Amino acid sequence: MAELKLSESRDLTRIERIGAHSHIRGLGLDSALEPRAVSEGMVGQTAARKAAGVILQMIKDGKIAGRAVLLAGQPGTGKTAIAMGMAKSLGLETPFAMVSGSEIFSLEMSKTEALMQAFRKAIGVRIKEETEIIEGEVVEVQIDRPAVSGAASKTGKLTLKSTEMETVYDLGAKMIEALGKEKVQSGDVIAIDKASGKITKLGRSFSRSRDYDAMGPQVKFVQCPDGELQKRKEVVHCVTLHEIDVINSRTQGFLALFTGDTGEIRAEVRNKLTPRWQNGGKGKADIVPGVLFIDEVHMLDIECFSFLNRALENEMAPILVVATNRGITTIRGTNYKSPHGIPIDLLDRLLIITTQPYTKDEIRKIVDIRCQEEEVETSEEAKALLTHIGVETSLRYAINLITAAALACQRRKGKLVESEDITRAYNLFLDVKRSTQYLIEYQNQYMFNEAPLGDGDED
Ligand code: ATP
Repeated sequence: MAELKLSESRDLTRIERIGAHSHIRGLGLDSALEPRAVSEGMVGQTAARKAAGVILQMIKDGKIAGRAVLLAGQPGTGKTAIAMGMAKSLGLETPFAMVSGSEIFSLEMSKTEALMQAFRKAIGVRIKEETEIIEGEVVEVQIDRPAVSGAASKTGKLTLKSTEMETVYDLGAKMIEALGKEKVQSGDVIAIDKASGKITKLGRSFSRSRDYDAMGPQVKFVQCPDGELQKRKEVVHCVTLHEIDVINSRTQGFLALFTGDTGEIRAEVRNKLTPRWQNGGKGKADIVPGVLFIDEVHMLDIECFSFLNRALENEMAPILVVATNRGITTIRGTNYKSPHGIPIDLLDRLLIITTQPYTKDEIRKIVDIRCQEEEVETSEEAKALLTHIGVETSLRYAINLITAAALACQRRKGKLVESEDITRAYNLFLDVKRSTQYLIEYQNQYMFNEAPLGDGDED
């Protein structure tokens, strides 16, 4: 009964949310970097995806630093989706940091500090560590606990028996931890990581092939000189320079990593660190330049742009990917206009990838994928209507209608979302065109009205 309750509460607390880009699982390219028509959640936009794939290859090769890419195109043409696709294809070891242009402006830190932190979040350090693992059967467990207070003492003894010979390994406090957490008993087969003292329970009987498989492909076996059976495992830790900065900045402490409340980090902390890692930490650490994605880059001002120009010259710089949907507009902090609101000198460094509006067929495929992702069963007719709405208004608006229509369907106790549900959602929520029309018609009823309306440049 107690077990049942536990599993029930676990199910309740599991959170799986569906975000705007959760259907994107990669760039959808084949091994020759050719885009597949529909793959990994990606539809169409083939030229842009192919270009992004080439950039990805450069990043994977790890030889190029300080390249910058601009994704430029109309709203809702998949710029953020392509950046997400790049992030997913890079894998977990290559850092991918994502900020929006407006996040740089904060009262807590200067703009350049915020940008510097974003840059360092996108530079990884891969640290290799070799650890030895002793594995065997527990034949004796002995533990001393102080009589008072009930707390565990710092001594403990664990006698291990491997197939070849007997090993006695005194782990002290670690042993007590294992007894508490892992509940090691006589007869258990365990592995002990000598460096960290971490104890992994492998089972109750010694089955070598299964246990070795469980340790993952990085495990190598060595016969130690004294004949003791041990495993040597290469453990690779990946951290970002920003994480190292935060841990080393005494004022903040490592907990700031979880709260995000890192404040300004002093330059000395960074300067002290960087050369040490750059030298490769005796060949055990590599710098991994990742990707920094700045969305809505037109929100940056002239000082930030000048910082970017300089930062890109650093040999450790990550690949910078910026995106904007703006045309020719004012560069923030100046009275000058320029393409995308980006100064010409920075534009000149950027490899520009443009995204194109979607065809009806592509919108239909994206609608299909989103219905699947949101687990909304939709009739063919309703999907056709959504596609039509997508063509007439925008892809984003059509995507947003899916969940609203599913609720309408639920309300009438239907199983399949039909056109009537889409129509209900369409009438309930206005798209930009109808909303603008409404504002023009009822402008007199609003305060501070300045009709005729501008081009929506400052939203
Ligand atoms: P904005 O300029 O307004 O920021 P954007 O170009 O970044 O827009 P996205 O946010 O990437 O547009 O796209 C809008 C929605 O459409 C998202 O949910 C996105 O995942 C989806 N989408 C866009 N392009 C594609 C695509 N090629 N394949 C699959 N889904 C896509």
